[in-house]
Amino acid sequence: MKASIKHPVVRIVVIYILVGGIWIVVSDRVVRQFSASVEQAATLETIKGLGFVALTSILIFLLLWREFSARQRVEDDLRELNMGLESRIAERTRDLEDANRRLVELAKAQQRVIRDVSHALKTPLTSVNLRLELLERAPVERAPQYIAGIKEQAQVINAMVNSLLDLSRIEAEVDAPMEAVDLNATVETSIESHIGLAHDKGLALDFSPTRPLPQVAGRSEHLMTLVDNLLSNAIKYTDAGGISVRTVYSVEHDEAAVIVADTGSGIEPAEFPNLFKRFYRTSAAKESAVTGSGLGLGIVREIVDQHNGRVEVESTPGEGSTFTVWLPVMSEAGDNKGVLQDGGGGAVSNPILLS
Ligand code: ADP
Repeated sequence: MKASIKHPVVRIVVIYILVGGIWIVVSDRVVRQFSASVEQAATLETIKGLGFVALTSILIFLLLWREFSARQRVEDDLRELNMGLESRIAERTRDLEDANRRLVELAKAQQRVIRDVSHALKTPLTSVNLRLELLERAPVERAPQYIAGIKEQAQVINAMVNSLLDLSRIEAEVDAPMEAVDLNATVETSIESHIGLAHDKGLALDFSPTRPLPQVAGRSEHLMTLVDNLLSNAIKYTDAGGISVRTVYSVEHDEAAVIVADTGSGIEPAEFPNLFKRFYRTSAAKESAVTGSGLGLGIVREIVDQHNGRVEVESTPGEGSTFTVWLPVMSEAGDNKGVLQDGGGGAVSNPILLS
C-alpha cells in the first residue's frame, strides 16, 4: 500500500517527526545554554519533557479528530443514502398499494357486473321456466297464453343481451376518435326507425330542429344509440299524447342539445338518484306491463360521460318527462372542448336533476 504525503495521517506523522525532532534539538540546546546550575537544568529538563508531552498530545488529538470527522462524514453520507432509499421504497410501496387498490376495485366491479347480469337474467328465465311447466300441465286451450308469455320474456332476454353488447362496445371504444356529428341528422334517422312504433301506439312523434345547428364532437354511432334509447323509452312509457323532439343551441355555453319530451307516465322524484344506474328499473316500471332491462339510461349516461356532456331530467308523475342531453360543439381545432359543469343552459328551464 502506498502512503502518500497527501494522506492526512501520513502528513500528521511527518509533521510530528519534524516538530518533535526540532523540539528535541532546540530544547537540548536551550537546556545546555541556560542551565547555570543543576536545579536550573532539572527545571528546564522538566519543561522540555512537559513540552514534548503537550506536543505529542496535540498531535494525537489532531489525529483522532481527523479520524472522527472522517467517520462522521461517512455516517452522514450513509444516513442521507438511507433516507433517499427509504423515501424511494415508500414511493414504490405507495404505487404498488394504488395499483393493488385499483385491481381490487376492478375485481369488485367485475363481480358486481356478473351479479347484476345474473340477477337481471334470473327474473325472465324463471318466468320462462314457470310458463313451460304450466304449458306441460295446462289444458291445450291455454297454451297460446303461455307461449305468448314465453315469447315476451325471450324478447326481454334478447333486449338485455343486446343492451349489454351495446354497453361493452361503447366502453371498449372510449378512446376512439371524435368526429363532427350533425345532431339533427342523427335525430331524423332515429325518428325514422321509431315512427312506426309510435304510430302503432297511436302516439304523435314530432321533431323541431334548430337550424343551423353547430356540429357536436362525438362518435356518431354512439350518439345514435343515445337518441334511440331516449326515444324508445319515451314511446314505451307513454300511452296517450305524443313525443316531441327538439334540438337547441346554447350560445352561452357553446353546446347543442337534444330534448326528448313525452306525455307519458312520468317519474317519481324519489326515483331520480337511481335512474341512470345500470339495471335500475323504477318500482312503477317493474309493476307495469312495460318490459325492459334497466340498461337504457345507463347506456345514455355512459355515452354522455364519454362526450363530456350532461343529461338533465324534468318529470311530473302522470304528466310526462323531458330528457335533455347537452353536448359540446366541435371546436375549430376539431376536438371535444368539454363543458362547464355549472348547471343548465339555453332552452331548458328549471331542470330537476343534473347528472
Ligand atoms: P328500462 O329498460 O326499464 O326502460 P332504462 O334504463 O331505459 O330501463 O330506464 C330506467 C327507468 O327509468 C325505467 O325503468 C323507467 O321506469 C324510467 N324511465 C326512463 N325513461 C322514461 C320515460 N320517458 N318516462 C317514464 N319513465 C321513464
